[in-house]
Amino acid sequence: MDVTPILESLNDAQRQAVTAAAEPMLVIAGAGSGKTRVLVHRAAWLIDVEGISPHSLLAVTFTNKAAAEMRGRIEALLGTPVGHLWIGTFHGLAHRLLRRHWREAELPQNFQIIDSDDQVRLIKRLLRGMDVDDSLWVPREIQYFINAQKDEGLRPKHLDDEGDANRRQMIAFYEAYEEVCQRGGLVDFAELLLRAHELWRDNAELLAHYRRRFAHLLVDEFQDTNAIQYAWLRLLAGDKGVPFVVGDDDQSIYRWRGARVEHIHRFQKDFPSASLVKLEQNYRSTAAILNAANAVIANNSSRLGKNLWTEGAEGEPIRVYSAYNERDEADFIVGRLRDWIAQGNLRADAAILYRSNAQSRVLEEGLINARIPYRVYGGLRFFERAEIKDALAYLRLISNRDDDSSFERVVNRPTRGIGARTVEIMRSYARANSCSMWRAAGAIGSDELNSRAANAVLAFLNLIEKMARDVAELELQEKVDHVIYASGLVDLFKKEKGEKGETRVENLLELVSAAKGFERDPAEEMSELDEFLSHAALEAGEGQADAWEDCVQLMTMHSAKGLEFPLVFLSGMEDGLFPHQRSVADPNGLEEERRLCYVGITRAKQSLYITHADQRRLHGMDNFSQPSRFISEIPDEFVEEVRPRVQVSRPMHSTSRRSAKSAPGNELGIRLGQRVRHAKFGEGVILNCEGQGAHARVEVNFETAGTKWLVLSYANLDLM
Ligand code: ATP
Ligand code: MG
Repeated sequence: MDVTPILESLNDAQRQAVTAAAEPMLVIAGAGSGKTRVLVHRAAWLIDVEGISPHSLLAVTFTNKAAAEMRGRIEALLGTPVGHLWIGTFHGLAHRLLRRHWREAELPQNFQIIDSDDQVRLIKRLLRGMDVDDSLWVPREIQYFINAQKDEGLRPKHLDDEGDANRRQMIAFYEAYEEVCQRGGLVDFAELLLRAHELWRDNAELLAHYRRRFAHLLVDEFQDTNAIQYAWLRLLAGDKGVPFVVGDDDQSIYRWRGARVEHIHRFQKDFPSASLVKLEQNYRSTAAILNAANAVIANNSSRLGKNLWTEGAEGEPIRVYSAYNERDEADFIVGRLRDWIAQGNLRADAAILYRSNAQSRVLEEGLINARIPYRVYGGLRFFERAEIKDALAYLRLISNRDDDSSFERVVNRPTRGIGARTVEIMRSYARANSCSMWRAAGAIGSDELNSRAANAVLAFLNLIEKMARDVAELELQEKVDHVIYASGLVDLFKKEKGEKGETRVENLLELVSAAKGFERDPAEEMSELDEFLSHAALEAGEGQADAWEDCVQLMTMHSAKGLEFPLVFLSGMEDGLFPHQRSVADPNGLEEERRLCYVGITRAKQSLYITHADQRRLHGMDNFSQPSRFISEIPDEFVEEVRPRVQVSRPMHSTSRRSAKSAPGNELGIRLGQRVRHAKFGEGVILNCEGQGAHARVEVNFETAGTKWLVLSYANLDLM
């Protein structure tokens, strides 16, 4: 058999791992050393050379995007599709198991997945219904408590209040929350994992079946598994399974979500026969980028320790730009992107990374103004937008009338005369009778409600029933199309004034396109609508509708894990933002932030830009900050500071590494950050200056008119 394609472009250590005998294997190696590549080639090797059926392979990765890529690469190596290969995220695979074995898992067949937002809403409702002072309890803290217990595999019955009244109350919330979820057939993300674990733990036959089936377990990004995920793998592997796991302790960035890098040691204890392979050659980045990453991560004390090297060239230096504010930063990035595209590069080869989602908005505005197509992963998630959730809630109700979350979301949206009081009456009826809101709505009549309210409720019930009948025989996208109109949502948003309403209608139409482009998973057995709804909840934006267009990629550093791009911008590199304020005082927290920085830097193949702003408006507040300490951890020899096109005087609060110099042609007293007024455009802030004397031009960001270049001698700006 010709195995050359599978062993091609692998170094000795990689080849050793790929062709190893059927024994547990641990590959620990730094970024860009080919861990994911080894995993992909291992899968192909097992199928093609060892003759293992794709049916008995289980591959787990971290994001749906990574899973899709992995499947594509395996298929490319084998030259044939492997539709029935189980490959996905822990959540995705757990979900599939629960769908198949809903009975054993004690779930209704059409159970629905709820995301983090739904979860908080549900907890808020719960608080209102319980006899507690709801001003004393923060829903997000309760949510955190519940999820943390689930991540550790703990149910309320396993928890001891330890004589602490606060904890006792938290456990009571957890218990009540479980009850509501069970009644409504609602499953949150942490529950998916916990249930899937219990499913196997409590069903010996089922477990035996899956153990026989999945002899080979392939796990990427192993350093970020949490307790319940590890327990799930451990259970499946048993004594005979062959887990093949790859990871990098320096890229463990989900400790805050229960991930435990200690699982690397645990694995070696649990599977004493496991071989250990280390990969040290990096194939991704230039030497400058790799050396910078190595220097930054060297500041962490708790590491397994490894040394990455490359045969590649030194490459360009890392460019650091000190922006005056976040708009200046965005303009700088957009300018460099323009150059990149003008040089004939693909937009999709460029990524802008940031620490927190809220940072994307200003960058998005810059890209929109410059007409550069872009795509946001996570964050402004398509499926999390309010109007999309409204439409999905109608669809969910059609699929499952007992879905209380969806019921409450749309019962009066658009307004149809069902007020808060009516909803409260239904809620207490539901509580008293341990039934869903839907049943409560059907059961209470004009005794409890005045006739107007009773009619409104009845009309709503009829509307849903009619919609369900009308769409029963339709194709998925026709169902969605029907529901966005019949529900009254499109009309509602059309009436909303301005851009916002228009965007919302566009988004709803986008949902129809999403349904149209929806591809069913051949291994899935539920109805297409349920599969689509689950997909919407699970993917939360990973599969936006414009995926086919060549566009610049925007995402948080967390979601960039495992990916690589020729050109990378790390934006917002300021102390307080990155490392995050929360982590600065805590050594463990700071080390995790540094690992995140290491992940960010090592995404870049050829060019890396690091930007920071002296002043940043975020969440409506102005902050002044120092450049991130991580920047100064990069040795000077690899860094080049980018200077603006002309030197201008810096505002007083400037704290950047760049020194203050006055502009050569600055006789008018213009400086960056100066507020000015223009007769026609109103008030704005100077972002940039160019040229001298009669040719001097300034770029002004006007509050209402947007950003404009003006010739100073004509503009008649008033300084403010
Ligand atoms: P990360 O830690 O970021 O997930 P990784 O260790 O999984 O990185 P890969 O993504 O598998 O690394 O590989 C990084 C890049 O190097 C990829 O473009 C891959 O194709 C390439 N590569 C890996 N090994 C080799 C090799 N032996 N020859 C040529 N290219 C390689
Ligand atoms: Mg990888």
